[in-house]
Amino acid sequence: MSPLDPGATIGIVGTGQLGRMLAVAAAKLGFRVHTFGPEADPPAARVADAHIAAAYDDEASLRAFAAQVDAATYEFENIPPETVRILQDAGIPVRPGARILAVCQDRIAEKTFLRECGLTTAPFHAVDDLASLEAAARSLGGRGILKTRRFGYDGKGQARISAETDLAAAYEHCGQSPCVLEGFVDFDCEVSQVAARGVDGDMAFYDLPRNEHADGILRRSIVPAGVGTDIEAQARDLTAKVMEALDYVGVLAVEYFVHPDEGLIANEIAPRVHNTGHWTHEACMVGQFEQHIRAVAAWPLGNPARHSNAIMTNLIGAEANDWLRLTVQADLSVTLYGKAEARPGRKMGHTVALSERSDS
Ligand code: AMP
Repeated sequence: MSPLDPGATIGIVGTGQLGRMLAVAAAKLGFRVHTFGPEADPPAARVADAHIAAAYDDEASLRAFAAQVDAATYEFENIPPETVRILQDAGIPVRPGARILAVCQDRIAEKTFLRECGLTTAPFHAVDDLASLEAAARSLGGRGILKTRRFGYDGKGQARISAETDLAAAYEHCGQSPCVLEGFVDFDCEVSQVAARGVDGDMAFYDLPRNEHADGILRRSIVPAGVGTDIEAQARDLTAKVMEALDYVGVLAVEYFVHPDEGLIANEIAPRVHNTGHWTHEACMVGQFEQHIRAVAAWPLGNPARHSNAIMTNLIGAEANDWLRLTVQADLSVTLYGKAEARPGRKMGHTVALSERSDS
């Protein structure tokens, strides 16, 4: 697999802020970028050389896209695996491939895969109706989190379960769709391992951020996480197993709970650049966006070493309206995603505050 020359064209399927930041990173390395997604004027397309506005299952448009690009990637995990297969059949390398999509799109397949790789997950039970929810809740001691099996994000399609919960209402909240009931993890904190694997099998790992959520949405990622070198090393080892099992190429994130007795409990995998890795752009030699483009282009991976401490804060909804005040803060890097409407709960941008590096 020879590396793509600068001037080659990288295709990005999906057109939100992640695609936008990937496109900018690709431009930095001299590549052209074509984007593909259903919207006419999305954030990523505005910084790309060309855009095809079509549905993810529009085979003719996917073939036209494949004819324009030298390699392709995707920026979110809910595209159909078939989309990737159509591009591959047209002779285009797609990095990462289709298999990880099938794993990540179903929480039960994902947790089963994580366990097969030797990772610990929360205990879980499939829920297909109210009776199976009642049985699952009993076996988990009455406490847990009910999640839809597919298409959940930012805490959507989730309900906390305790002894007082009306289980029928919780199941209703999750749309009475196929769900999983997970045991509730009493964690100390949440961290994520953002890592990359190249076509040659080489791997790069970023330091762990400690992630804080509010209303199911990531609020802040703080680096260093302050969890100690053993946890940092354990996260690298576990995440390496996941990437190797998939013969993965690109950037990936595994979210972990840090448990006081059990160590790292894996929550989920994101087969893409990740919100909890945005700080790497400012605080590391080579950030996650450039790292992913390097892997997609079959280039050697870059140096993930962190030169600064960082706090990444998401700008959610109307918070982004404060951009002018933020831009004048000397230690703050501001990124705005160019989304037209600041709807509540919508990620509109983020800031990264840098300070002198420390190790814990
Ligand atoms: P998820 O959509 O799986 O990433 O869940 C969103 C957030 O809900 C996580 O980042 C945690 O803060 C919380 N959460 C999810 N699953 C569990 C669990 N099994 N136990 C405790 N908290 C959880």
